[in-house]
Amino acid sequence: MNSVSAEHSGAKDTTVGPSFAVSIVLPAHNEALGLGAAVESIRKVMHSSDVAYEIIVVDDGSSDETFKEIERQNVIDGNIKGIRLSRKFGKESALLAGLGAADGTVAITMDADLQHPPDLIPQMLQEWRDGARVVHAVKRDRQIDGWLTRSSAALFNKLLSLTSGLNMRGASDFKLLDRAVIDLLVHDLPERGRFYRGLAGWAGFEQSSIPFDVLERDAGSRKWSSFALFDLALTAITSFTSAPLRVITILGAVTLVFGIIVSVEALWSWFRGDAVSGFVTIIITLLLIGSFIMISLGIIGEYIAKIYAEVKDRPSYIVEATCGFDENNGS
Ligand code: UDP
Ligand code: MG
Repeated sequence: MNSVSAEHSGAKDTTVGPSFAVSIVLPAHNEALGLGAAVESIRKVMHSSDVAYEIIVVDDGSSDETFKEIERQNVIDGNIKGIRLSRKFGKESALLAGLGAADGTVAITMDADLQHPPDLIPQMLQEWRDGARVVHAVKRDRQIDGWLTRSSAALFNKLLSLTSGLNMRGASDFKLLDRAVIDLLVHDLPERGRFYRGLAGWAGFEQSSIPFDVLERDAGSRKWSSFALFDLALTAITSFTSAPLRVITILGAVTLVFGIIVSVEALWSWFRGDAVSGFVTIIITLLLIGSFIMISLGIIGEYIAKIYAEVKDRPSYIVEATCGFDENNGS
């Protein structure tokens, strides 16, 4: 078929001759403005690399003309395909939908706003040819973000790395996955609450990293609300570490030791007949312990909520329409 697919037919050679070498998956929510330019520059890179490709744009419930733009692009180049989700399911679900429809020997996931430079693709493919099954594009430093965003992202990645054992430093969703890993993520992981960045590393196999500079957004604005980011952070934590639950246990043990010391001291004073009135102490202790208990319940509640979401077993996404796929394909 072409130079790439001829080399690696993948560790799990069960696919009946995938018709494309590289599937590029772009989740897009209200990206109509910049999508044309993004697709165009990816096409250019793919043409100059002389590799067969398909570009799958997953419209994550956009309220603008994103899907129409995909259809327009499909008329220009049949390699550009679209999946429209029935509503906004979030980037994680959009990525999963795209990977599920990907037909390639490898898939590359990247943002639809050109913040992930398509020029990196040939280098990622080279890493794959050299044997890597997962190639992570790692952010050098997001100078374009504000100080607060950068340091909170760094702190979050550091804490998650420490507790989950995965290296999340500079992690991004710009990745290349071999067919074996695509199949693993799409077919073998039943979980609903997904954190793609973590799962790709968790999968194992031979992994490699390439540093890159995050570019300025080409058009439109950032699509994450603070709530959506917070929710993603919770999914990341609850699906990769139970450290917060352990912290509760440790906190409980520390409080117990502290409680025993204070109780002994109080009893001693009582026996000696000079028990302190200690109203302020009691109020502070009550409030502190009350807060610890409520925070602990909240943390346990978050894990229970995630378990509940898994038990309900609702689909991660619903496909409303597709464009550019053969029949029986693309959902
Ligand atoms: N995106 C999506 N669904 C969402 C949020 C984002 O499909 O709920 C897409 C978005 O269209 C873009 C990519 O995910 O292609 C990255 O989003 P964005 O550029 O807003 O975030 P950032 O660059 O800050 O990570
Ligand atoms: Mg972006």
